[in-house]
Amino acid sequence: MTTLEEARRLDAADPLRACRELFELPEGVIYLDGNSLGALPKGTSARMAEVVSGEWGKGLIRSWNEADWITAPQRIGAKIAPLIGAAPDEVIACDSTSVNLFKLVAAALQMQPGRKVVLSEPGNFPTDLYMIAGLEAQGLAERRLAEADALEAALDGDVALLLLTHVHYKTGRMHDMARLTRAAHDAGALVLWDLSHSCGAVELDLTACNADFAVGCGYKYLNGGPGAPAFAYVARRHHEAFAQPLTGWMGHAAPFAFSDDYAPAPGVDRLLAGTPPILGLAALEVGVDLIAGIGIPALAAKSRALSEFFLNCVAERCPDLPGVSPPDPMQRGSQLSFRHPEAYALCQALIARDVIGDFRDPDILRFGFAPAYVSFEDCWRSVDAMAQVLASGEWDRDAFRARAAVT
Ligand SMILES: *Cc1c(COP(=O)(O)O)cnc(C)c1O
Repeated sequence: MTTLEEARRLDAADPLRACRELFELPEGVIYLDGNSLGALPKGTSARMAEVVSGEWGKGLIRSWNEADWITAPQRIGAKIAPLIGAAPDEVIACDSTSVNLFKLVAAALQMQPGRKVVLSEPGNFPTDLYMIAGLEAQGLAERRLAEADALEAALDGDVALLLLTHVHYKTGRMHDMARLTRAAHDAGALVLWDLSHSCGAVELDLTACNADFAVGCGYKYLNGGPGAPAFAYVARRHHEAFAQPLTGWMGHAAPFAFSDDYAPAPGVDRLLAGTPPILGLAALEVGVDLIAGIGIPALAAKSRALSEFFLNCVAERCPDLPGVSPPDPMQRGSQLSFRHPEAYALCQALIARDVIGDFRDPDILRFGFAPAYVSFEDCWRSVDAMAQVLASGEWDRDAFRARAAVT
């Protein structure tokens, strides 16, 4: 039975139960959207005040060196590296996930003379598909899409790069990174993994999987704040060969030589384009330190326990709600999705009860379980609220109609 007492017993036995105190969460709110925008770490506000008033206000331009601003992208990249199974010099924190996708897809294409196809899957996160389309419009790429179970068959001698999101943003389905990377390499293709919905919540080992490239998001499970800088990974074996197209001065081998001619910096440093956004990086660093301090194995184990408990609650209390996510917790990320014809209205009704999940067009209700601060009691209370809404038929139909009118 999935009772409130059982949920509280699981919380009492949870080795991460104290971590919730590291976050600023509004009283009474159940936050199941940390996979979209992570919560605010308590340490962030103080650190931001220090960077703004102290390092910027008093240190002024001296802080590029004295406060180590200039090395922030590499330093934070090195802290993200162990979370994704990479070496410290293979990761850099910079730009957005979208921009990093563009740089790495272009770099991969340039490394594959005679091949132009970038293979991905329909329904991948839009920015991933649009970036391929943008390079296609420039005549540099040719986009090919194949359903998940047909990807291996679509890997022929024309495929330069396989670009996949590891954990699907809508369904939570997790790809087998090792198997697909091997299949791509066997076909002579390189692989770029988008880790936006994975990093900080599930185990990742880019090195063991022999991945070539990866990108990921700083504001989801890493809690770096809205629009936080993202990260990019390049396997060390490619550090000599890869070239990215945004050849800005910060990725130059000697930016302060102010030369007229571009020469790439060694390794991942060449992924930098312009001046690093220090305020955003400072907030990201607090989130990364926090997650690294807890450690991925404990976070991933709790994530699976939370989603299993949530599924059991749904099976008992809302048995007619069809699940969309893989039932095997090893085949999904830290989220669960359900289908309902009035998913938007249901989502609004839950938000009105302080249970924040989200809606994805057209009929998906999505709940993310950021393991650092979501409790088993949160899971029980969310499903309890959902069961009450479904039983009462108490829809926020006006909100639903209002949306239908504008889209
Ligand atoms: C969230 C997310 C992004 C975000 O890209 P931005 O450039 O930060 O807007 C990219 N890819 C995936 C798969 C995501 O889930």
